[in-house]
Amino acid sequence: MTVLHAKTALLPDGWARDVQITLSQGRIASVLTGVASAEASQTQRVDCLLPAMVNLHSHAFQRAMAGMTEARGAGQDSFWTWRTLMYRFLDRLTPEDVQAIAAMVMLEMAEAGYAAVAEFHYLHHAPGGVPYGDLAEMSARIAAAAAETGLGLTHLPVLYERGGCDGRALSAGQLRFGNDPDRFARLWEAAGRALAALPPDTVLGVAPHSLRAASPAGIRAAAALNPKAPIHIHVAEQLAEVTEVQAATGARPVEWLLANTELSSRWCLIHATQMEPHETEAMAKSGAVAGLCPITEANLGDGIFDGVRFQAAGGDYGVGSDSNVRISLSEELRLLEYSQRLAGKGRAMLADGARSTGRVLYETACQGGALAAGRQAGQIAVGQWADLMALDCSGPDLGASAGDMILDTFLFAGDDRMVAEVWSAGRHIVTGGRHAGREAIISRYRRAIAGLRDAL
Ligand code: ZN
Repeated sequence: MTVLHAKTALLPDGWARDVQITLSQGRIASVLTGVASAEASQTQRVDCLLPAMVNLHSHAFQRAMAGMTEARGAGQDSFWTWRTLMYRFLDRLTPEDVQAIAAMVMLEMAEAGYAAVAEFHYLHHAPGGVPYGDLAEMSARIAAAAAETGLGLTHLPVLYERGGCDGRALSAGQLRFGNDPDRFARLWEAAGRALAALPPDTVLGVAPHSLRAASPAGIRAAAALNPKAPIHIHVAEQLAEVTEVQAATGARPVEWLLANTELSSRWCLIHATQMEPHETEAMAKSGAVAGLCPITEANLGDGIFDGVRFQAAGGDYGVGSDSNVRISLSEELRLLEYSQRLAGKGRAMLADGARSTGRVLYETACQGGALAAGRQAGQIAVGQWADLMALDCSGPDLGASAGDMILDTFLFAGDDRMVAEVWSAGRHIVTGGRHAGREAIISRYRRAIAGLRDAL
C-alpha cells in the first residue's frame, strides 16, 4: 500500500489542506483531510495533488512528423495537403517504428501530466494494405509501448472502410487503414487479446474513423461489438467534410449522428469544430463528450470549437493531443481558453461564478477525459483508479499561489515543467518530473525516425 501526503489537494468538493491518501491495487483506498505531515511516516510527500487527466485523442505515429510540415507547398496549404504528406510518411512505418514512436509519445504524455491515453488507432496493415500475420500486430505494438511506459491505455481500433461518403475505394495512402466490418470485427477481437497482458485499468473501445470513411452499417456494427465500450469518431473537423457529408446524407455530421445513432456519454465526438448553434446545444444535451484538440486544431487550421455555448448547455469535454505535433497538457487547456477569448473578445470565458478559468478547464477536462476513455478516474475519490498528478510548488509562481490560483498559474503562467509526479492507476510513472525509461525510449525513437525523415 502506498501513502501520499499533500499540503493541498483538489478533491471533488474543492481544495483541502493536509490530505493523506492511500492507494491499494491501483485504486484510491482512502482520503483523509487535516492530517499533519509529521503524523505520517513512510509517506511520499508532495506539494499540490490533482487528479491526473486522460489524453482522450492521439494518433501516436504522427508524432514523428512534428516540425516537418510547416513549410509552404505549391498553392495554399491546408488540412488536405497536410494529409497527403502524412500518407506518404506513414507508408514507410514498420511495426518496430510504431512501437518506438508510441513509447516516445507516451513518455512525453506522462511527463506532461497525463495518466492515460485514448489511442485512436488506424494504421493496421503492411504497406499496400496487406494484413500482418497477426491482424492486430500494430495494436500489439501500441500495447507494448503502454506496458513499457506504464501509461494507462484505452485502445480504440479504427474502422476505415472507404475513401469518401460516396463509397469510393480507398486511395493508395489509405490502404493500410482499410477493413470491411467483418475483418474489422476479427481485428478488434485480436486487439483485445493483445491487451490481455496489460493492467486491469486497460480499456478496449472502438472508433469508426469518420462519416467519410465509415458507412452507416459499419458504424452500427462497430457500436455493437461491445455495447458498453467507449466509441469515438472524428466529426466535423473541416468545412469540406461538412459539405461532403451534407451532400451525401442531407444532414450535417453532428445532425446525422444525433438522428441516426444513440449518442450518449459512451460517445466521444472528436473535434466538432464545425457546428451550428443548434448542433452544439443538442450535442451537449446528448451526453456525448466533445474531444477537443486545440493545439492540433490550430496547427491544421480547423477552426474554433464553440466552447462557451457548449459549456452553457451542460456539455462535457476533454482534451487530446491528436497529431502530437506538441504534447503539452497545460498548453492544450490554455489554447482552448484563448481560442474562446479571441473568438468572443472577452476574458475568463470558461470560468463560472464559483470557480476560476483554470479550475473549470482542469476539472471539466479531467472528468470528460475519463468519461470518454471509459476509465473510472477524473477525481480524487475512494474507489477511483489512482490517476494522480503532483505539481512542484517550490518555484516563485506556484509557491505564492493557493486554491484556484494554483491551476490558473500552472495553465496560464506555467508549463509542464511544473509537473513533478504522476501516478497512473497507482503506477508511479513520473518522479521528479522525469519518466524512468526516458533515456532508452528517446534513443530508440531517435534511431527509428532517422531513416523515416527522408520520406517527406
Ligand atoms: Zn484525430
